[in-house]
Amino acid sequence: MEFIFLGTAGMQPTKNRGLFSILLRHKSENILIDCGEGTQRQMRIAKLSPTKITKIFITHLHGDHVNGLPGLLQNLQANQYTKVLEIYGPKGLKNLMRHILNIARVNIKIKIIEIKEGIFYKDINFKVEARKLDHSCLCYGYIITENDKRKINLKYTKKFGLTKSPLLGDLQKGKDIKYKNKKIKVKDATILIKGKKVSIITDTIYFNNLIKIVKDSDMLIIESTFGKDLQQNAKDFKHLSTEDVGNLAKKAKVKKVVITHFSQRYKDVKYLEKEVKKYIKNVVAAEDFMKIKI
Ligand SMILES: [Zn+2]
Ligand SMILES: [Zn+2]
Repeated sequence: MEFIFLGTAGMQPTKNRGLFSILLRHKSENILIDCGEGTQRQMRIAKLSPTKITKIFITHLHGDHVNGLPGLLQNLQANQYTKVLEIYGPKGLKNLMRHILNIARVNIKIKIIEIKEGIFYKDINFKVEARKLDHSCLCYGYIITENDKRKINLKYTKKFGLTKSPLLGDLQKGKDIKYKNKKIKVKDATILIKGKKVSIITDTIYFNNLIKIVKDSDMLIIESTFGKDLQQNAKDFKHLSTEDVGNLAKKAKVKKVVITHFSQRYKDVKYLEKEVKKYIKNVVAAEDFMKIKI
């Protein structure tokens, strides 16, 4: 999985930060998570073609997360987008898209899916689960989990003279096999590689169940709109502070934290990164165009 941060500002853009958007690349999938104003231009700067987008996941219908949609759709139309664009998001998305399509006036094929809590997307590589957050409108956190994989232990299979055969595929699928009248068991012949868990949490106030939701994430991408100094603002506007994020990451035993969705008042977000670092070592403050592979 590769994550490209296309916009790392919350609410208002700054000279150096576009509004919220992340591109998730995974094998043939290019999934845009939210589409803040100016996302198509950010993609151009990053030398990414919008026509590569396969799906869009919208977390909630606030302007700083969706205002880039009309322009992006017009871009796709102008560049002869031929796929069916699937757009997933909370209830109300269909109504919003009606208005957007009214102004964008595009005739590319679009499938709009209003999701509920739970797993809403699954393919052979990974699954995505939506979890309700606590914001000023219906907002979902997205939990992406790669499927576990089995690696063949060739040293072991060689003992049976088995190095090349479609049967190896069966082992990879988790099936015991029979080769030259000998039984080869999956648990001996393969090594299980656990799929990675990445949680994307924006926007929300802190609530206790959040610990369960992001528990043991290999990477937690999370809004950190305010610093510790503005804890009250975080509560009032239903956002997170660095203190909330630090506490959460520590309690949930997260391996890596990426903070994003910053208030425009913070010119240097290293200060926010330092605040979270008091709780957990592996923290990075996102910058526009930053890429992280996991
Ligand atoms: Zn926001
Ligand atoms: Zn919001």
